[in-house]
Amino acid sequence: MYLATEKDGIVEVPKKKRLKALFCKHRNVVCGEQCSKNGMRRISGEDAYAVCADCGTILDERNRNY
Ligand SMILES: [Zn+2]
Repeated sequence: MYLATEKDGIVEVPKKKRLKALFCKHRNVVCGEQCSKNGMRRISGEDAYAVCADCGTILDERNRNY
């Protein structure tokens, strides 16, 4: 999955790694709006996520439909 972040532009976040997530402290969090690889976003709403960049755990999720 890709997130459009304010700070770093489009960032690819890893799929969740279960084993790593068990020991991960989730210090490296990426926040942004979900988008495709080339930055296309949903037209009819917004899917915002906070994901750990190390293990792929979704820490926060916010969905909004217009
Ligand atoms: Zn983590």
